[in-house]
Amino acid sequence: MLAAVLLSGLLSLCNAAAAPQPVRDYLLLGGPTDEPTPHRACAPYMLRGQRQQLDIPAPEGGWSGQPQALDIFNVYAGEVSIRHGDREICGNMGDARTRDSRFRAGIGMVTVPRAGSLEPIHVSWATPLKERWGPTLRLGAPSPVQQRDTARLLVRTACVAVALALALSALMGFLTSRDRIFLVYVGACAVFVLWQAVLGGLSGYPEPWFPIGVDSAWWLVGLTACAQAVLLPMLWRLNAGDRAWPRSRGVVSAVSGALFAVALLVPWMDWTLLGWTSDVLEAAHFTGCMAALLAGVWAWSRSDRWASIGLVALAPFLVMIVADLARAQWLLAHRVEALQLGVTWLLMMAAYALNQRLGNLREQRDQMRQLADTDALTGLPNRRAGLRELGVQIERARAEGAPLVIGFLDIDLFKEINDRHGHETGDAVLQAVAGALRGALRGRDEVFRMGGEEFLLLLPGAPRDVAAARLQQVGRRITEAGVALQVDGLALTASIGLAQWRPDHDDLAGLLRRADHAMYGAKRAGRDRVMDGEQLDAVRPL
Ligand code: GH3
Ligand code: MG
Ligand code: MG
Repeated sequence: MLAAVLLSGLLSLCNAAAAPQPVRDYLLLGGPTDEPTPHRACAPYMLRGQRQQLDIPAPEGGWSGQPQALDIFNVYAGEVSIRHGDREICGNMGDARTRDSRFRAGIGMVTVPRAGSLEPIHVSWATPLKERWGPTLRLGAPSPVQQRDTARLLVRTACVAVALALALSALMGFLTSRDRIFLVYVGACAVFVLWQAVLGGLSGYPEPWFPIGVDSAWWLVGLTACAQAVLLPMLWRLNAGDRAWPRSRGVVSAVSGALFAVALLVPWMDWTLLGWTSDVLEAAHFTGCMAALLAGVWAWSRSDRWASIGLVALAPFLVMIVADLARAQWLLAHRVEALQLGVTWLLMMAAYALNQRLGNLREQRDQMRQLADTDALTGLPNRRAGLRELGVQIERARAEGAPLVIGFLDIDLFKEINDRHGHETGDAVLQAVAGALRGALRGRDEVFRMGGEEFLLLLPGAPRDVAAARLQQVGRRITEAGVALQVDGLALTASIGLAQWRPDHDDLAGLLRRADHAMYGAKRAGRDRVMDGEQLDAVRPL
């Protein structure tokens, strides 16, 4: 009965699933709205304060009747208003919500004047903080004006994206090297990202995410002071200024600290002081760039190859300074993009220098590792390296099931050699023995100086009898090397203990101990021979 009910329930479910369903492969976000189209009417507070005005006149004979787009860039502070006919919009760089969404980098309006009308388009903006920082206006057909506007936004966004990517990669650099300079670089990138966001208006996208509000001029000057505090030491260092004049490090730190302090004071400044501060910052930038240029040229003339990176990093700023003095139109029109590209270029050069530094650090570490693993007298790998390699070989033999034979070699009566022929001859003998051992290596064999006149030979993969024969050959080579030294009365021989790794119950220490015992067995048996640890009790030379 119960089964029948369950079955009928299941069947009805299947029927429901088989019923035709509406298409579901789309995603609808948001919902219907009753909000009126945001009309950017100019609130009275927006129009307060000093404003500059421009009336763009209609062409001779009146407007054509086609739509006209007007886009305004480079307004770093305050509101812009555009008015024509009964349309008026207001907007500011720090809040994308106040702007026409068809204009992304600038503040714009599309208007369709009546054919033949002579009414000008009225534009007004807050008085710029600085001379030569006035707005750029572009008038034309909507599509090209908007495309240029979008291109500006792409450049501005790309520069911020590059700075973020470089910061992430520097963070990786810090995690691998633990060198704090990488963290300093990440901090510099963060300052530049915020500065660019405010300068380029990206802080207002899609909603204002940085608390600028109506104080964009204050934020801009404060962040410019921070950016200069980071930029000048970077340029100075990249141009080898700190190497040319080591005491300058203190001066540069003091300047940088003072610039940060200026940034902290900015919120309390009035408009006049703010303008004056931005002039001081510009002068500091000019002086810093010139100082970096002099340092870079000086270092470059002394063939300091690092300084060329600094000069290359400095180049865009120098070009901008010259263009500014010459009042070049391209700079007036594209100041934000030029500044952002210049900073991006600097960050890339600094990242290049940091990567070189990381490479040098790795090289140094490899050299130190190499030194720590090498015996200075013979050039052979030392005890440290020997023990490590023996561990590796044991693991390999375990994994491959292959034999592993080691030989522990001790030069016979070496003390006597030292006593009779002098310590220098003793050293020469050790070097000759090392040479003979190197020459006797076959395939994967390895040799290490374990200390004093003791050496370790690893013969992986060779069966016991083959290894024993090879060690006897080693003994003969050592005797030959002694003869080749042509020292009167020198008879060079060695005692070698052989041990094979036992897969079932042998560890590194046990294997070494057996080889060492076998070597002492060889000594007891009269020296100048190879003794197999297995036959030690029989004290039988091979
Ligand atoms: P045995 O045959 O029993 O091994 O006798 P031995 O004289 O070789 O043994 P011992 O271990 O007493 O002597 C080792 C000597 O090696 C003592 C030490 O002065 C000398 N020695 C250790 N390192 C060096 C080195 O780097 N250079 C020189 N010239 N001698 C060294
Ligand atoms: Mg010894
Ligand atoms: Mg010895």
